[in-house]
Amino acid sequence: MIDAYGRKITYLRLSVTELCNLRCRYCMPAEGICKKRHDQMLTEDEMILAVQAAASLGVNKVRVTGGEPLIKPNILSICRRVAQQPQIRETDITTNGLRLNELAKPLRDAGVKRVNISLDTLNRDKYAYMTRGGDLAEALRGIEAALNAGFDKVKLNAVLIGGFNDDEIPALAGLTKRWPVDVRFIELMPMPGDTLFGEQAYIPASRVLEELPDAIPEENHDGVARMYRLPGGQGFVGLISPLSNHFCAECSRLRLTADGFIKPCLHSREELCIKGLDLDGMIEMMRRAVSLKPRQHEALSATEQSRAQRTMNQIGG
Ligand code: SAM
Ligand code: SF4
Repeated sequence: MIDAYGRKITYLRLSVTELCNLRCRYCMPAEGICKKRHDQMLTEDEMILAVQAAASLGVNKVRVTGGEPLIKPNILSICRRVAQQPQIRETDITTNGLRLNELAKPLRDAGVKRVNISLDTLNRDKYAYMTRGGDLAEALRGIEAALNAGFDKVKLNAVLIGGFNDDEIPALAGLTKRWPVDVRFIELMPMPGDTLFGEQAYIPASRVLEELPDAIPEENHDGVARMYRLPGGQGFVGLISPLSNHFCAECSRLRLTADGFIKPCLHSREELCIKGLDLDGMIEMMRRAVSLKPRQHEALSATEQSRAQRTMNQIGG
C-alpha cells in the first residue's frame, strides 16, 4: 500500500491492551486509566482479522505493544497467531520487561523475533520514581531472560528526560558493551494532558552525542533511528528524534489501538474504527486510514503538545 506521499506502508503496531503494571510519568496518569468495558475492546479474533486485513494490503511486519502487552492473559496465543500469518515475516514486541523472566522463552517459541525493552535508568530509586513503583531488578532480570531466549535482536529503549537521566547517557549507552543489545534514546514527546515536565525535560537527542564523543556514526539507519557504535560495543546506539528531527518521510506505519481504532499517525486526531467489521470492512477502513496519513505531524516541543487525543498507553507506543 502506497500513501499519498509515496510512502510504502508495511508495518502495523498492534496494541493489545491499554492496561499496564507500571505508571510511567510520561505515559500514564498516576491513578491509571478509566478501565473500558470488555466489549469495547478488540477480541483476539478481531486482532488477527485486522492483521490479515493489513497483510492483504502489504503489511509484513507487526509490533505487538500496549499498555503492557505481557499482562494480557492470551498474549502468547496472539503472538503465535500473528507470527503464523504467511505474509507476516516479522513479529516483534515492545515491553517494560517485568514479565520477561517467565515469558521470554515462550514468546520466542511463539514466533516473536525481536524484543524492545524500556529502560530509562540504571538507578533503582529513579526507576521506582519514574515508573511509580517499578522494581529495576525485575526489569534487569527480564532483559537477561530475553538475551538467553535466543531472539534475533534485543533493543533497550530509554526516553531522554533532562534533569532525570541525562547524567546516565554514558552508562546506558555502555550497556552495548556489556550485552549484545542496541540502546536507543528517544526524545520525550509532549503527550496530551502532560503537565508534569518542564521545558528542561525536553532535550534533543543530539545531547547523547555530546556525552559520547567516541561514538562512530553508522551509514545505515535502523527505521527511524540514526545509528552509532561505541568502540568495543556489541550493539548500536540509536537516536530517535521525533521533536528535533522529524522522521515522517520514512514513516511506514499504521497503528491499531486496543479498542479498535486505526490511527494513521501517532500525533494526529484522526481515528477510524474497525471493531465489529468483517475482513473486507477492515481492509476498506485501512485503505482510508492510509489515505489520511499526513505528510508529517505538526510541530512538537515543550510548549506544543501532540494532537493525539489519547495518552501513550492508549495509543500503543
Ligand atoms: N509497556 C511497554 C513499554 O513500556 O515498553 C509498551 C508500551 S509503551 C507506551 C511503548 C514505548 O513508548 C516505551 O518505550 C515508552 O518509553 C514510550 N513512551 C511512552 N510515553 C512516551 C513519551 N511521552 N515520550 C516518548 N516515549 C514515550
Ligand atoms: Fe506502562 Fe509502557 Fe506506559 Fe510505562 S511506558 S506506563 S510500562 S505502557
